[in-house]
Amino acid sequence: MIIPKTSEEIALMHESAHVVSRTLGMLAKELKPGVTTKYLDKLAEDYIRAQDAVPGFLGLYGCPSTILTSVNEAVVHGLPTDIPLKEGDIVSIDCGAVKNGFYGDHAYTFEIGEVKPEIKKLLQITKESLYVGIREFRKGNRVGDVGFAIQTYCEAEGYGVVRELVGHGIGKKMHEDPEMPNYGRRGRGKKFMEGMTVAIEPMINLGTHRVKQLSDGWTIVTLDGQASAHFEHNVAIVDGKPQLLSTFDYVYEALGIESDEEDEFRP
Ligand code: MG
Ligand code: MG
Repeated sequence: MIIPKTSEEIALMHESAHVVSRTLGMLAKELKPGVTTKYLDKLAEDYIRAQDAVPGFLGLYGCPSTILTSVNEAVVHGLPTDIPLKEGDIVSIDCGAVKNGFYGDHAYTFEIGEVKPEIKKLLQITKESLYVGIREFRKGNRVGDVGFAIQTYCEAEGYGVVRELVGHGIGKKMHEDPEMPNYGRRGRGKKFMEGMTVAIEPMINLGTHRVKQLSDGWTIVTLDGQASAHFEHNVAIVDGKPQLLSTFDYVYEALGIESDEEDEFRP
């Protein structure tokens, strides 16, 4: 069942999402070769609690951490470890928080030092595909329109679009209806309505779309061992159009990146 939100609830969700956005920005400043993802996890937990919020992942489905850190061939759900990040790695940091009873949940894939051009391009296209998908999340469109847009955009580059994991509705629960696949057919699936709030999150592989789960019961990796990227935003439909609840502004501030990519989706 899809649960549309009132404008008051959307304002609260904006706050929850921004707890996560600020946390990703804080982590962006810490990322360099030699840093461990376990260290980042501890920083993230403290930082979320300092904002009168609670980590959203910790304990959910038995998750042992505040952030999920997926390095290189890991797609999503990587558990923080004591292995230091190294020059040329990429790491997707996915983070959740609960504030005022509502969840925020989004992710950014970071470069550690200088990464190979082909990996840089994978990150760029995956992030672009996120906005291509968000643009289709408007009143009257359907779930398949978002999936189709993301899939078409990424497959044009020869990338693999992960099938086993999908975006989702979000609200008082981390995962609400509908599922939001990153593949699909135009005009198919549930219809979007005013007040809907979702997490759109393309998971895109350099090679095959096929994935497997590691024996830790969490980490999803690409079957061919090639790199994978993951970007996620929380989005609401307001006045029929997509409006971002989350932002990468804090990340860009930390990394010194200029970007106008979010402008068309701001309140
Ligand atoms: Mg997430
Ligand atoms: Mg999500």
